[in-house]
Amino acid sequence: MNAEIVTSGTELLLGETTDTNSTYIARALRDIGVNLYYKTSVGDNVERMALVLRQALERSDVVITTGGLGPTVDDVTREAVAQATGRPLVLYPECLAQIESIFARWGRAVGANNRRQAFLPADALVIPNPVGTAPGFIVETDHGTLISLPGVPREMERLLQDGVLPYLRKRMGEARVIIKARVLRTVGLGESLIDERIDAEMRSSNPTVGLAAHYGMVDIRITARAADEAEADAMIADMEAQVRAAIDETAIFGVGSDKLEDVTARLLAAAGVKLAVIESATGGEVANMLRSTREGHAAVTSALVVDSPEALSAALDLSPAKLAAFGWISEMVAAEAAARLLDTYQGGWGLAVLGDVGLPDDVYGRDSGQTFVVLATPDATIVRRYPYGGGGFLARAWVRARALDIVRRQALVRLALATAPGLAAQG
Ligand code: AMP
Ligand code: MG
Repeated sequence: MNAEIVTSGTELLLGETTDTNSTYIARALRDIGVNLYYKTSVGDNVERMALVLRQALERSDVVITTGGLGPTVDDVTREAVAQATGRPLVLYPECLAQIESIFARWGRAVGANNRRQAFLPADALVIPNPVGTAPGFIVETDHGTLISLPGVPREMERLLQDGVLPYLRKRMGEARVIIKARVLRTVGLGESLIDERIDAEMRSSNPTVGLAAHYGMVDIRITARAADEAEADAMIADMEAQVRAAIDETAIFGVGSDKLEDVTARLLAAAGVKLAVIESATGGEVANMLRSTREGHAAVTSALVVDSPEALSAALDLSPAKLAAFGWISEMVAAEAAARLLDTYQGGWGLAVLGDVGLPDDVYGRDSGQTFVVLATPDATIVRRYPYGGGGFLARAWVRARALDIVRRQALVRLALATAPGLAAQG
């Protein structure tokens, strides 16, 4: 079954209201296995809406509209559906009775406006609205089924759950399939690199594999359609194994809604490691992200922010002459800062995230120099240089992700050493 969503309301086209209705409906359709191929938004105009509905009925089995069922002149959905399906609007006495009972409770008579809400296309199935005055309705035509729901999200959700989803499930009957997705979250690998590595997998049609990049991280979404959950799980597991074999699997830090800072903080706690952090351009964000979690709050012992060589020198008692000689944003100085934190906070690790303090409007940090991230641990010192710095939000997001990832990977190493005594002895 293929569906399509049409949201109506001029406020959506003016960018004043965010179309959350279609997101909600899209998820609900996904969960019951209905394919969604199109979403359209149209203004409060009868002719344009009727045109959109006719097109939608041509290409989709089910068209779900939201909005435009109110009592005012700009609520044109009933009329547009009537035009698109060639049916007259007729009075539904049970709808009028429902509207009258609501008005009676308010101690008011039903005006002409609100009476309009009881006129629906002939031969429609009414979806009663227990939380508002506008009933929804279903019109079955030779071209497809049109379902109209109110625009107010709370009412739309109620009618979708109570009326529409049971209706769709029943219609799908035996042909019912479920759609299930699993997201592998990666950090540190570019979207195009992943795309190259899993080119074959990305061409699969079931399960499908898709990528979504967010600020230094890329999600790999595997979506399977199957007769039941167990079959979908098996298909996803198969595809996941292929994907993991094709890329650097250590870049996968979590699944589903796992967050990098949560995963990193949990690993630090599991490894029994404390961490002291010093940052420049990221302004304490790396430490704050870790501290936003329960485990991270305990693990981060110190969070320093500096924005000049003088401040850095004062914070960690580093030689001003050395800072001047190497530059305060340099591999040498970042390594020394991390080592100093390691010494100061005995047993804890030291993380220095030192980048040129540039302008916030240099989003990508291209003109804002560079950033050094150094993690000092008793076993190893990890040094990374990145060709971006500054206060731009993307550059900061990338640096945060890279810095957290370095800590995450080192915590994994520490845990592996702790649980493999043979290795520890060699190390
Ligand atoms: P309507 O039924 O078109 O009069 O819409 C009633 C109210 O619902 C509008 O004023 C919006 O605030 C809200 N609304 C309508 N359509 C949407 C939508 N697609 N997403 C979120 N809110 C909406
Ligand atoms: Mg409207």
